[in-house]
Amino acid sequence: MTLNALIEEIPRIGPAYIKKLNKLGIKKVSDLLFHFPHRYDDFTNIISINKVKAGETATIQGKILEIKNSRTWKKRIVITEALIEDGTGAIRVIWFNQPFLVNNLKPGQIVSLSGKVSFTNEGLYLSSPAYEKVSSFKFQVSSLAHTARLVPVYPETEGLSSRWLRYILKPLLEKIIPELKDFLPPEIKKRQKILDLSLALWQIHFPKNKKMAELSRQRFAFEELFLIQLERLQTKKRLQREKAPQVLQNIQLIKEFSANLPFKLTDAQRKATWEIIQDLKKSYPMSRLLEGDVGSGKTVVAVMAALNTISAGWQVAFMAPTEILAQQHFQEISKLLKNFKITIGLLTGKESKIKKTKLKDLKREEFLKQILDPITLKKYNGASKKIDLVIGTHALIQEKVKFKNLGMVIIDEQHRFGTEQRAKLASSNQKQETRTIPHLLSMTATPIPRSLALTVYGDLDLSLLDEMPKGRQKIITKIVPPTARKETYDFIKKEVEKGRQIFVICPRIEKSQITNHKSFTPLDSKHLTGQANYKSQITNKEMLSWSEVKAVKEEYKKLSKEIFPDLKVEMLHGKMKSKEKEKIMKNFKKKKSDILVSTSVIEVGIDVPNATIMMIEGADRFGLAQLHQFRGRVGRGLHQSYCFLLTDSPAKKTYQRLKAILTCENGFELAEKDLKIRGPGDFFGTRQSGIPDFTMRNLSDLPLIKKVRQEANLILEKEPNLEKYPLLLEKLKEFKKRVHLE
Ligand code: ADP
Ligand code: MG
Repeated sequence: MTLNALIEEIPRIGPAYIKKLNKLGIKKVSDLLFHFPHRYDDFTNIISINKVKAGETATIQGKILEIKNSRTWKKRIVITEALIEDGTGAIRVIWFNQPFLVNNLKPGQIVSLSGKVSFTNEGLYLSSPAYEKVSSFKFQVSSLAHTARLVPVYPETEGLSSRWLRYILKPLLEKIIPELKDFLPPEIKKRQKILDLSLALWQIHFPKNKKMAELSRQRFAFEELFLIQLERLQTKKRLQREKAPQVLQNIQLIKEFSANLPFKLTDAQRKATWEIIQDLKKSYPMSRLLEGDVGSGKTVVAVMAALNTISAGWQVAFMAPTEILAQQHFQEISKLLKNFKITIGLLTGKESKIKKTKLKDLKREEFLKQILDPITLKKYNGASKKIDLVIGTHALIQEKVKFKNLGMVIIDEQHRFGTEQRAKLASSNQKQETRTIPHLLSMTATPIPRSLALTVYGDLDLSLLDEMPKGRQKIITKIVPPTARKETYDFIKKEVEKGRQIFVICPRIEKSQITNHKSFTPLDSKHLTGQANYKSQITNKEMLSWSEVKAVKEEYKKLSKEIFPDLKVEMLHGKMKSKEKEKIMKNFKKKKSDILVSTSVIEVGIDVPNATIMMIEGADRFGLAQLHQFRGRVGRGLHQSYCFLLTDSPAKKTYQRLKAILTCENGFELAEKDLKIRGPGDFFGTRQSGIPDFTMRNLSDLPLIKKVRQEANLILEKEPNLEKYPLLLEKLKEFKKRVHLE
């Protein structure tokens, strides 16, 4: 049998179990072998019966003298009672509701039993112990699976007991382990003191001791991180073999630009700009992530990079996630660049226009021609210049959009810009003799902890804006317990009377609450009869966004009808049509509404300087960094602003966690805290990623990650295509199919 064999080929697994395993995503032998225990029961306390003490967990081994079933007086529970003796004494054993045991365990047999010793007035007894038959008193503990050792306990799943998994896994491991070949290069294993695959696989399921269990875990953590690193670094190195426009730096021009700004650049902005401009000079494409809190001034940095690129004769595409943001950028950037002879265009799903030219109502096709080949548009007076900077939405990466010579792509507020999308943009560069790939600058306000930057985002170089422009107002942040809710509403009312506006953010309702809630069921339940797994037809993501919508609708109703009937309340959520969303956002920006209730996922990246309160419901459900980002949406104007964190959770731990945000204004610090407390889920879609849980936990282990990255770098330097490591290559291929880090 091979690792790639289907589980159907494993003896002793019937069709019912195949189904259950498949449901867990376990299809191949390797899936089953890599279904790891999440803890171990320590049954290593093997003692003779005369030594057992009440309250301890003990393993005894002895002969069954008698075994029988009886019912309790209420007749509800079946009790199986046995008497076991081992030469030093005898002890009673009791199991509840497992009447079938009498068919399996017979008087005269020798058994090994592990469990808790309890006490009644009839004396000591072993309560519901794990059991297994042994052939004689002289057996090896290592031959046991369920008792007398560190016994693996697997994550609880419906209908799949740990006992059953052990029963399947033990013989399977015995069979397959001699055939296993380790794909990790021996020199790495030696250097990093890593267990061999066979040993680790055996020891993670059936460890000799706790140390071996831990070492095995480390091996698999290393292995998975190593594959992540290889994949990311290969992507990175592959790109470095491509050609990109070599954009010479124009320091003079950048100085001129910054001298004309109404403010002084921060040191962080200068440094980031410098890093980018250094990259643009290189012959291979830049892949850089510019990270900085909301308001840290990423746009100016991007504009300086764009200016430099355009002055060298190349075009720049600037992509925003929504129409409103694209429009906002179009206006802001046009203002910033008004003293420069640069043609700026806006391209969204419905709009296409060019600033400062006579091309007022340009048809879309003509606009597109203007990006590609302006010569054909001579009929427009003085418009023979191509569009240098195209700002837009996803409309920018449609097939019809072709550039004359695209030199750089800037992506705003989209965590990740896929390799595929970049390839699309690159291929749109039609008019060149040699194909080049544009430089990429991706910007995000999500602070990414260092360890994740080196793994999940390991193919990107990083520039940080870890400093806010001077003179930003401090936002007053408060944790609001239920008792202070009324007071908070009164305060909001007063702010609105002063002319200010309010954001309200709602968390998603927890999954357990959704499934119990009828109104959530998107289909008539009648149609679902016989489709027990209908829930799996709705993806997790959908479930979550549904629950958010529900929360927003309820909050909207409450605020508009009960709390603030005199104010204009609007709501915004992901299930609305984008036209509708745009309208509501615009209304809010134009002050046609006072309060905007919104989901957390909705784009609130828009600038509303008149909004002074950010009120976050169920604040304890969010990560600290996320709360910090919400907070950054206010305090953009002249008025004192506030952030209210509402929580119904009385737990001291919750309060402690939230308190960090009262004093800390550094998104990166908060993100590191989140990663420690909540794991990497806040930073990328862990559920869909395909990364196993045990690796997730290691995604915050910076020293380990650095070590792994070093090894991955080393091997790729020697063997860029890993040709000398066929096993590793194969494993990496599998990994790419399984894991999606976008
Ligand atoms: P973000 O990083 O969130 O994209 P923006 O680029 O939108 O931030 O900048 C936020 C605001 O700060 C803008 O109005 C911008 O003009 C201003 N700004 C940028 N850099 C500075 C600076 N160094 N000093 C003062 N204001 C700045
Ligand atoms: Mg921005």
